[in-house]
Amino acid sequence: MTISVRNEQAEAGTFEVRSPGNGDLVGSFPMHTDEDVAATVARARVAADWWAGLTFRERAERLDRFRGIIARRLAQLAGIMHEETGKPHSDAVLEASLSLDHIAWAAKHAPKVLGRRRAGVSLLTANQAASVEYRPLGVIGVIGPWNYPVFTPLGSIVYALAAGNAVVFKPSEFTPGTGSWLVDAFAQVVPEHPVFQLITGDGSTGAALCASGVNKMAFTGSTTTAKKVMASCAETLTPIVAECGGTDALLVDSDADLDAAADAAAWAGMANAGQSCIGTERVYVHTDVHDAFLEKLVTVARGQRAGTDPDATIGPITLPSQIETIRRHINDVLRRGGRAVLGGADAIDGSLVQPCVLTDVPEDSPAVTEETFGPMLTVSRVGDMDEAVKRTNATTYGLGAAVFSKKRGTEIADRLRCGMVAVNAVFNYPQLPSLPFGGVGDSGFGRIHGPDGLREFSFARSTARQRFTPPLALTTFGRTAKTDSLATKIMTLLHGRH
Ligand code: NDP
Repeated sequence: MTISVRNEQAEAGTFEVRSPGNGDLVGSFPMHTDEDVAATVARARVAADWWAGLTFRERAERLDRFRGIIARRLAQLAGIMHEETGKPHSDAVLEASLSLDHIAWAAKHAPKVLGRRRAGVSLLTANQAASVEYRPLGVIGVIGPWNYPVFTPLGSIVYALAAGNAVVFKPSEFTPGTGSWLVDAFAQVVPEHPVFQLITGDGSTGAALCASGVNKMAFTGSTTTAKKVMASCAETLTPIVAECGGTDALLVDSDADLDAAADAAAWAGMANAGQSCIGTERVYVHTDVHDAFLEKLVTVARGQRAGTDPDATIGPITLPSQIETIRRHINDVLRRGGRAVLGGADAIDGSLVQPCVLTDVPEDSPAVTEETFGPMLTVSRVGDMDEAVKRTNATTYGLGAAVFSKKRGTEIADRLRCGMVAVNAVFNYPQLPSLPFGGVGDSGFGRIHGPDGLREFSFARSTARQRFTPPLALTTFGRTAKTDSLATKIMTLLHGRH
């Protein structure tokens, strides 16, 4: 079995990253200590003041050049992503290229979303000029996962930078090389100050960042770790945005385009070896089309192969410990009368997991209730879409979902309890920088991407300027009984009829 883990034999104060595909040494990185993290955050504070002092336009110009470097060197960046995560090179190129629109959008829209704008006044406050603007928080700590080591952390990083913050980034210990590449590329376009810095290490380095007194933490990872991050941040009243996992469902109505639905389900469940936070894990299919859909899904899924060679469409499982979770989920289903229509217990070979499609799965099976994070789908027959909605919502998670229906797609989607829904497609919403990304319940809170993603890394600052002395002076000890009576009359007139 090949692994990608921190090597305990590595030189003191460092850790090694090995390719999950072939076990080759990919790189060695510093295991940053609490003191290293504190020093990095201190440098970031100075850089944050300088960066916040630039105009939106000046920051946009730097972010645009950062985007240019990524676009021109996609293949190089993808090479590191491929080595560290094992994902196919073409998937790595796709992931990195999808982040480009986000950088462009955040840079372009920051002035409009965050810049000062006028706010309304009322009859009694007509003498005031009111305005609101969104100011940078200061230093943002970003903790990222390994599964999408470019697209996911940049969803926090570039929105935080566009809002005028400095960023200290702690990538997963499995993908520090990818994080390092991004930080080096940004330093080329912002050489003056360390506005975007890297710290590397394991969970303890992440914990040090949480305790370092940064102005906000943007965490992406599992719900379990999010709780630890939140508890640690509570000590210093550091706010957090938490982007966690899910058990996303895909619903197939009786009038759905079954070819499109089967293709989408296979991709959303099995691309990136199923290691996607918004990956489909459960499929609920209307009984009228269940058998036809299942046949089409199995045909598409059977055409995919996990491997480490260039022709494999699915890479290895990046995290060695995830293999046991996938095995446990499959075995539980089979033990309790479920069927493996494709794959099954022998689908696992070392770090490779071949596509699995399971049916007749009990709803309380871990394969349904927990995040499997492997190339595996459970497919369940439902009598109608009401049942599909009910089963979809019967989870503590609430990240994303997808609905396939020609006539009732949006209507069904509106009834799902989750942060994002795709209709007649999958993975479309993260590609739209104008749309906020995030979940509810155990999937987290707060938003990256879109206007909400920019505001997430800022604070609202209100200003009310008195333009002239009001005819009715209310906030003074010189207020008279006549003023009181008039003010009461006006308020009663305005609000009393409701
Ligand atoms: P983990 O929760 O294991 O780790 C996430 C990050 O937290 C890593 O960088 C990890 O460092 C770090 N970390 C670990 N312990 C601590 C701690 N005590 N304090 C601070 N930081 C810590 O998640 P994975 O990396 O395994 O990522 C997979 C999870 O991420 C899945 O649940 C997936 O659904 C979710 N995810 C959510 C997304 C979203 O946008 N909603 C997007 C992508 C993934 P290290 O790796 O060095 O231990």
